[in-house]
Amino acid sequence: MRSSILIIYTGGTIGMKTDPETGALVPFDFSAIYDEFPLLKRLHVDIDVLTLDPVIDSSNVEPHNWLELARLVRDHYERYDGFVVLHGTDTMSYTASAMSFLLETLAKPVVFTGSQIPIGVLRSDGRENLITAIEIAGARLDDGRPVVPEVSLYFQNRLFRANRTSKRSAEALNAFRSYNYPPLAEVGVNIAYNLPAIMRPAECPPKLRIADSLCSDIAVVKLFPGIDERTLRTMLSVEGLRGVVLETYGAGNAPTCEWFLRTVSEAVARGVVVLNVTQCGGGAVAMELYETGMRLRDAGVVSGHDMTTEAAVAKMMYVLGREGSAEGARALLERPLKGEFTA
Ligand code: ASP
Repeated sequence: MRSSILIIYTGGTIGMKTDPETGALVPFDFSAIYDEFPLLKRLHVDIDVLTLDPVIDSSNVEPHNWLELARLVRDHYERYDGFVVLHGTDTMSYTASAMSFLLETLAKPVVFTGSQIPIGVLRSDGRENLITAIEIAGARLDDGRPVVPEVSLYFQNRLFRANRTSKRSAEALNAFRSYNYPPLAEVGVNIAYNLPAIMRPAECPPKLRIADSLCSDIAVVKLFPGIDERTLRTMLSVEGLRGVVLETYGAGNAPTCEWFLRTVSEAVARGVVVLNVTQCGGGAVAMELYETGMRLRDAGVVSGHDMTTEAAVAKMMYVLGREGSAEGARALLERPLKGEFTA
């Protein structure tokens, strides 16, 4: 059975090619995809392409772009079997994490990919990333169900759960890492799917329900030795602030000095939701392990377990967009919604 796939091109390096006359990088026209890659016809997929207007460098992405992307997927959901989102690599993990929460009842593949080298440059990693992402988005089990019915990110031979990824290299072609969750697939001569690691929704409603608001009244505060009271207090008392992703040390540790804990507990008492994630790439927050973590827990800080900062930012915006009260938001933060942390 042929699958039909919608490619949504949002911008980024993957969509560039060299103008043969001027040598400058110019946008690649994805709507002429079969002319550029005639071999795509062998994949047994029907492809349509939608290019955002304007396309953006992903460093300019904002939460309203995430809502727009979610609406696009919802509006085309019934018509297609899967979606490939082409996105700049710089903030791809943030956008893809946000999509994992916004597409609330998703039961079809949404595969993000991009490239480090423009698609029109001979040595580009974009061609392989694009072609394999299309193949994954269209892949079905024997019973016809999609193999990867969740938001994923494909880059350099590995498919990851999107909300477990971080961009870790501005140079290497394998730019993304998922330290705390195994790849959903490894690609060599064949695509080897790690089926037990892939999320299967309990229900597959024909229509996609999406969230329609995100709250960006949040801050990311990264601890560093020497952070002082004045700086932290200023950050935590910004008017209208509703959520803070606190990047702590190691297994969720922070200074135990009186001014630090007082500043954090006062923010929590004012209704600011504080979520603790580790600055380390791998491993988890375990606030019960050291006194330095326990004191944070006593101050009302919520554990982010092994969540990435990217997923924590997206989830914080999502839960605060959904819940008016700090208690409601905290209750959603405390449980995994889309496999974003290991419970
Ligand atoms: N600055 C580009 C972007 O993120 C880099 C890339 O696509 O790799 O849009």
